[in-house]
Amino acid sequence: MPAVAVLTAAGSGLRLDANKPKALVEVGGQTLLELALERVLAANAVEAVVVTCTADDMHSFQRVVDSVITPGDDRVRVVPGGKSRQGSVLAGLEELERWLAIPTSSDIPVVVHDAARSLTPTELIDELIDLIRKGVPGALPGLPVVDTIKIVDPDTGVVTTTPRRDELRSIQTPQAFQWSVLRRAHQEHRALAESETTAATDDSILVENLGYPVTVIEGSPLAFKVTVPEDLERTHAILVGTGH
Ligand code: C5P
Repeated sequence: MPAVAVLTAAGSGLRLDANKPKALVEVGGQTLLELALERVLAANAVEAVVVTCTADDMHSFQRVVDSVITPGDDRVRVVPGGKSRQGSVLAGLEELERWLAIPTSSDIPVVVHDAARSLTPTELIDELIDLIRKGVPGALPGLPVVDTIKIVDPDTGVVTTTPRRDELRSIQTPQAFQWSVLRRAHQEHRALAESETTAATDDSILVENLGYPVTVIEGSPLAFKVTVPEDLERTHAILVGTGH
């Protein structure tokens, strides 16, 4: 059974102090998008990937995609993203649906991944896809948290509650779902995607809201998200250290 993917890359480079979209920032001669896309395309039976881009940079994104795929490989398309990450994923799903005529009821695995998590190992993507093939509706990677996490009233700073640490996980992407489940989850919550203040920060939230069980597996330290300049240095150090 083939799998499909949305690679979200339509974020700004604001927190990186970059004067270009984050996905187009280079580390050791390669953009974050290239690094992430190579790893997604190497995953087991991924037959189509939609990359979401910032609308003004479509040509630059397409050039990066062309540099990754071999001539004749038409597994990747670039589409403009939305006003929020949720909106970008929705745009990606709609493009996949049009492109491959995927029926709403399809159970093929769909992976949603952030280009900003550019060193995520292909093996992690494969592991998640395998779980979906075995009938799990949704699967995501998470790491145990080292700090005590408190829920705080944002207006007063007063602690509302402190969850038990051993029950908490810091959630990463890639996140994998059955197509029918993710497609419906995005359709039913599409109004939230219009603004960053209402949009979901990951896809699983939308699926959980529909009542589906979502399984968390052991994440990877390499799936960290590039957010601030120090994260670029970390990416570079890992690339140099591993020779990839
Ligand atoms: O901003 P943040 O780092 O949380 O974004 C997570 C991922 O979502 C990034 O890969 C970013 O490019 C993507 N994104 C998107 N469309 C947006 C906002 C973020 O594709 N409107």
